[in-house]
Amino acid sequence: MVSAVRSVRPVRPVGPVGPVRPVHIAIDTGRCIGAGQCALTAPDVFTQGDSGFSEVLPGREDGNGNPLVRDAAQACPVAAIAVRLR
Ligand code: SF4
Repeated sequence: MVSAVRSVRPVRPVGPVGPVRPVHIAIDTGRCIGAGQCALTAPDVFTQGDSGFSEVLPGREDGNGNPLVRDAAQACPVAAIAVRLR
């Protein structure tokens, strides 16, 4: 009998895994093309202003504890969002 060896990939945690540390979000407005991926991914932190370009919602500059802020930055097609720990 041949036994198969399967690789097991780590599963990304779903749901809360603990407090999310405050971050500092910077948007390079000269690079933003208004694709809207950030606002779709983390709508409680990002929005698109009247110009169509991304903005951080007032009072959410620390990421609002949303773990999807980093995903939003990675989803940006032009890498216009920088997220760093405070
Ligand atoms: S995803 Fe990037 S390009 Fe699109 S609106 Fe947000 S910052 Fe701008």
